[in-house]
Amino acid sequence: MSAWAIILAAGRSERFGGSRNKVLAPLGGKPILGYSLRAFQECPAISGIVLVISPQDEQEIHRIAQDFPKVKSITYGGVTRQESVGAGLAQIPSEASLLAIHDGARPFITPLMITEVLKTAEEIGASVIGYPVTDTIKEVREEGEVLRTLPRESLWAVQTPQCFQAEVLREAYRRARQENFIATDDVALVERIGKPVKIVRGPAWNIKITTQEDWEVAEALLRRWEGEMAWRVGYGYDIHRLVEGRPLILGGVVLSEERGLEGYSDADALLHAVMDALLGACGLPDIGHLFPNTDPAYKGASSLSLLKEVYRQITEKGWVPVNLDVTVIAQWPKIAPHIPAMREKIAQALNLSPDQIGIKATTHEGLDALGRGEGIAVHAVASVCQRLGNRASAPPVL
Ligand code: MG
Repeated sequence: MSAWAIILAAGRSERFGGSRNKVLAPLGGKPILGYSLRAFQECPAISGIVLVISPQDEQEIHRIAQDFPKVKSITYGGVTRQESVGAGLAQIPSEASLLAIHDGARPFITPLMITEVLKTAEEIGASVIGYPVTDTIKEVREEGEVLRTLPRESLWAVQTPQCFQAEVLREAYRRARQENFIATDDVALVERIGKPVKIVRGPAWNIKITTQEDWEVAEALLRRWEGEMAWRVGYGYDIHRLVEGRPLILGGVVLSEERGLEGYSDADALLHAVMDALLGACGLPDIGHLFPNTDPAYKGASSLSLLKEVYRQITEKGWVPVNLDVTVIAQWPKIAPHIPAMREKIAQALNLSPDQIGIKATTHEGLDALGRGEGIAVHAVASVCQRLGNRASAPPVL
């Protein structure tokens, strides 16, 4: 799936009070907009982000966006939400097949929630995250006089992201423009042209910060989550035989062209141990199950690309790698000179910094087969974490 996101940050914040755009207000010390940007940056399905802003916030938003390489374009919004989305839409490349539209003032969206809504949009055409309302809703005149009570069973509150097959949204926008129709959300434009829309059930805490009261709720949620991380540790082990006439690849780096590890893939025992440690930490099946050596697709496969696939699978479940500690047991060759390059490669594949990756090597002191240099063995430990909020967000698709 090639999905792009449009994040709306051009609000005038009239209901928030003050002159400043609320998406720039600090929540737990970071601008509100930064939270959504992080979720979209970390969502594997998203290839690029278009930010829609107001001219007066340009400098500050450029500074915030620097930390998020998926932000490919920053453009000015219009007077209405619909015009702002239209401006964002104009910046989306034609190869994007799916689109996600998100309010920059909804900081608690998670990569997992984004993926769920995108998947549904890919199947149905349009999808939105929301939840059934629990309060009874009444239609009221301006003076406070109740006109009627709406049947609660069929009422849902919808949030963002709202996701679409790109063609469906473009057509809905075209028609709305031609017919001068303005709606308060984007799926309404799709409903209007008779195309199906499906709701993905999400959590009520995916709030939009509109008033000071919302901001206080957001601060309280954040305080609660900050103390509530789930941590896991996993362990992986691998051993391969050394043979003549194969390259030696360890940690994604070529150490020798003449003598290397025997195996079905590129036989990178270091990355195999790392992958098993990560998968084990997340309670997922090991690499033998994921990439079976009965499948020709994995013959000679680059273990670095398999590691990227493991990363995609664990982040899809809401887990984020925190650190790795690896011990290589090799009588030959000298590993130490290659360690910095290995840490670089692994850091890139796992979206970590090299200082989160420890690699060390030892010999086997001449003992046993490893000591005779007949093979190389690797032990790896990995830790992963997950914001607990992510768990509650594995939404049943309705
Ligand atoms: Mg192996």
